[in-house]
Amino acid sequence: MSIASLAAPGVRGLTPYQPGKPIGELERQFGLERIVKLASNENPLGASPKALEVVRRILGGSHRYPDGSGFELKAALAEKLGVEPAQIVLGNGSNDVLDLVARVFLAPGLNAVYSEHAFAVYPIATQTAGAAGKVAPAHDGSRGPRFGHDLEAMLERVDAGTRVVFVANPNNPTGTLLGRSELHSFLSALPERIVAVVDEAYFEYAPASDYPNALDWLGEFPTLVVTRTFSKAYGLAGLRVGYAVAGVEVADLLNRARQPFNVNALGLAAAAAALEDTEFLEATVRANGAGLRRLEAGFHERSLDFIPSAGNFLSFDLGRPGAPVFDALLREGVIVRPVGNYGLPNHLRVSVGTAEEIDIFFAALDRVLAP
Ligand SMILES: *Cc1c(COP(=O)(O)O)cnc(C)c1O
Repeated sequence: MSIASLAAPGVRGLTPYQPGKPIGELERQFGLERIVKLASNENPLGASPKALEVVRRILGGSHRYPDGSGFELKAALAEKLGVEPAQIVLGNGSNDVLDLVARVFLAPGLNAVYSEHAFAVYPIATQTAGAAGKVAPAHDGSRGPRFGHDLEAMLERVDAGTRVVFVANPNNPTGTLLGRSELHSFLSALPERIVAVVDEAYFEYAPASDYPNALDWLGEFPTLVVTRTFSKAYGLAGLRVGYAVAGVEVADLLNRARQPFNVNALGLAAAAAALEDTEFLEATVRANGAGLRRLEAGFHERSLDFIPSAGNFLSFDLGRPGAPVFDALLREGVIVRPVGNYGLPNHLRVSVGTAEEIDIFFAALDRVLAP
């Protein structure tokens, strides 16, 4: 008997999500002392100090279950976002709510549509729910930003079995951004039975000018789901808090399938505190802009192509396989992210770090690429 054959068919075809290499693992592997991790789009400024203060204060209450309804965090979010608490679904990271959408709206015989080079959790969630993923080719550069979502191609993939579409804006690992009118036309063109997920994990970083804040359209599209996270700009990746905002009926369905205590007590309290820490958020966004410009300048200087990014990371093109360069950078104590599994074998993704971290990254890259 093959144990693998016991798994649900969708799970058999999956490969595990590849996270950024943890610092401790690299320390063990090469005995390195100074390691710069620019692999997981974490906040180089750390966590919001207000959030950390709260965590320290409530740590002693860890024997208690968290508030399974997330009352206080939902109230704070509702006030900040101008929605009702009943429209919010909290998750153990926004990955958890992406998975909830798949479990609630997908099933064998149905499918989800997403783009080539889109975030890796979409296929995992889709296939685990027993559904099929339909991948639309990304822009080739002729009608939209190269590697970005081609919404027309996505629409063409929609068929009678489609129940969910996933749109990442900006997308990871490409950093590409969709404009307001193109995203709105896409949502308008979708049949009503389809749940459109707009994943705004990097919303805080995206430039304000033409950014389509999808929350504005919740009234117009009753099956729209907008997901956001405290992992990126708020610096709370390790505490795992994300959320979805949707119409009340969709949110209710998602909440039915949610595990009762899916967000831990430290995460709930830290997220609520971080939400009020506008000073930290502003400093983060400012530092990110400066970091992106530093990265761009460095790549220009070295004549390396990169995909212009609206996030806190940037994927650059080595013109040859990225995996060996990734390995060589590890030996230099610098962790970036290979993106071959995203269909970008010649690219590597580097997260925006502090100025010092970026300089260390480029110095290591120069050593690695030296003829
Ligand atoms: C990082 C990321 C997420 C969310 O991560 P969580 O830590 O689970 O909140 C979601 N979508 C995209 C596109 C991301 O890059």
